[in-house]
Amino acid sequence: MKKRTYIIVATALASLTLIATWQGGFLHWESSAELGGERIALGLSAILLLVGAWVLTWTRRLESQAETTRQKLVAECIERERSETELGTVLSSMNSLVAELDINGFILRFIPTRYELHELDPDDIEGRNIQEFLPNQGWKRFSQVLERVFLERVSEEVEQLVEIDNTQTPFQLTVSPLTEKSALMIGRDITERRFYEEELARRAFTDPLTSLPNRALFLDRLRRAMAGYQRREGLQYAVLYIDLDRFKIINESFGHAKGNAMIRATAQRIERCLRKVDTASRFLGDEFVLLLDEISDQREALRVVERVREVLSRPFIIEGAEVYTSASIGIAFSAPHYEDPDDIVRDAHAAMQWSRSRCRGGYKVFHSEIHDRAMSYLQLESDMRKAVIELSPKKSEEGCCLIEEGQNQFCLHYQPIVSLKTGLVTGVEALLRWQHPTRGMVSPVEFIPIAEETGLILPLGAWVLKQACTRLRELNRNRTNGNRLTMSVNISARQLQQQSLPGIIKDNLERNGVDGELLHLELTESMVMDNPLEANAALQELKRLGVSLAIDDFGTGYSSLSHLYKFPFDILKIDRSFVNRIEFLEGKHCRIIEAIVAMAQSMEMTVIAEGVEKEEQRARLLELGCTFAQGYHFARTLCTESLETYIRSCRPSLVTSELPTDASQ
Ligand code: C2E
Ligand code: CA
Ligand code: CA
Repeated sequence: MKKRTYIIVATALASLTLIATWQGGFLHWESSAELGGERIALGLSAILLLVGAWVLTWTRRLESQAETTRQKLVAECIERERSETELGTVLSSMNSLVAELDINGFILRFIPTRYELHELDPDDIEGRNIQEFLPNQGWKRFSQVLERVFLERVSEEVEQLVEIDNTQTPFQLTVSPLTEKSALMIGRDITERRFYEEELARRAFTDPLTSLPNRALFLDRLRRAMAGYQRREGLQYAVLYIDLDRFKIINESFGHAKGNAMIRATAQRIERCLRKVDTASRFLGDEFVLLLDEISDQREALRVVERVREVLSRPFIIEGAEVYTSASIGIAFSAPHYEDPDDIVRDAHAAMQWSRSRCRGGYKVFHSEIHDRAMSYLQLESDMRKAVIELSPKKSEEGCCLIEEGQNQFCLHYQPIVSLKTGLVTGVEALLRWQHPTRGMVSPVEFIPIAEETGLILPLGAWVLKQACTRLRELNRNRTNGNRLTMSVNISARQLQQQSLPGIIKDNLERNGVDGELLHLELTESMVMDNPLEANAALQELKRLGVSLAIDDFGTGYSSLSHLYKFPFDILKIDRSFVNRIEFLEGKHCRIIEAIVAMAQSMEMTVIAEGVEKEEQRARLLELGCTFAQGYHFARTLCTESLETYIRSCRPSLVTSELPTDASQ
């Protein structure tokens, strides 16, 4: 302001001086010889005047610009102050760790926030190095982040554990450049997010019932073990497939809650048999799959198998009752050809099935024969499906196919049942035959279990009943009361559970006009003992149709006459395994058969001996009180025509094996 006044005053004085000079000179313009010099002075004064005016204007403009800038700066300062206060307010209201750091991690400023620091005093934080708060080599990673933020002037995020007051907490640390020499670090506690993430991962990879790894996690670990096996020499791995025997019955008898408790207890017992490197998983239901990793030889795995079998053979306490179970185990050992985890699991499973089909509670190591068998099983299953479905387009009310009579791959053969006293045929047992287009005659021992497993036994069994009842009518066409033949039909477990079975039987009996008592349904002991309550209800319903019920293969299962007493059986068939040694049996062994016969008779059950092959056996059975028998000694299984010839040729007391035989046997 002062400067400007000086300039104005100086310019004004200079101008006045110049004007005065100009005027003096003008008055003496023509008379003075020095007039030219005065004119120059006049011009200079005018120029000076103009320059002064310009300087004045310029100064004014500069001043106004400076004022604007100043005002702007003031406004900016106010704004910055305001936003800093706001930022401060925002930051301090955050539930985060906020600090200003230098490139070496020193905490230049620590902004107290809502975040709980426990015993740690916020005033003690400034001046310390963030390194002190980052456990487990955390600083190494964080220092690289800091370096990048300072050099590249970018924001970076990193998840690290932060240790505050001896407590480690997961944080998401966001570091952004602040000034040239500092960066702002905002740390967000992610404990909760981590928990949810871990929970989700846990759910995705664990079995909710047992908390064991599920199939997905198991296969992942197996994949790693396989990769390790390819790298390390000498270390092997093994996959164990465990299936609890009789779990279904336990589950159904005690209810699902108790069944689940047993699965959990099983999981705990199995886990205790394993080392840290091993993995136990539950695939589904009562199926557990184990990975034994880094084993030095196969014996090591077999020792685990023994341990698992031992712990599972101990009783489980359910509702105060001791419940026993056992496990069938299949084992597959590492081999170079295993590339896909599913392949080795499949083989362990096949070995388990092989073991279970032979005896429950055992174990089997997978070998190529099992694989071939499994393949042939699959092929047979597919062939059977075609044989059943292609030849039986008609659907029953339950949706299962019924095979129509006529040309097909299945047929029934019949084995006569004779009276040991008279030698006369009293009935026949229908036995299913499958004439496979390429394999020839396939044994029911081979295909019935597949039919049961696949459910094909339902349409097949219905067809057997239909055929058998038609044959029963034909066989008795010219027979009188008291002289009629009976027809025994084998019923499988799946059929017994079938709601429509009584209806199917009733239909067949009515359609053929045959008496229910001439139809004998053969069931095995295990079918009823495995699930006594349900089985008994089904048997009672069948009994109401007037049919006779026979217990088949007696002596191969529970062999508990006292239990059988509870079921409405009319006939007991002593298994072939008892009969085929009978002529050599002495003392107490012989008395067992005597006792069976006596007890059966006391329960008003008829006894039929199966598999009589020799005259000595027939004679001995007669001595022991047995009244009926069947077996090769009398006749093999016969097709319809051979059966009729056989029956016609039978005379009272004619007991001979010199009779027609079936070519298929
Ligand atoms: P099963 O009911 O015990 O039938 C008796 C089996 O013993 C028949 O075998 C028969 O051929 C055989 N057999 C009879 N007498 C003798 C003998 O003196 N010595 C010897 N070594 N064997 C004799 P098959 O026909 O092979 O039937 C085997 C099993 O298949 C049957 O055993 C039965 O459990 C099942 N089966 C057969 N047909 C059917 C059916 O239509 N439905 C169901 N569910 N199962 C069937
Ligand atoms: Ca039978
Ligand atoms: Ca039998």
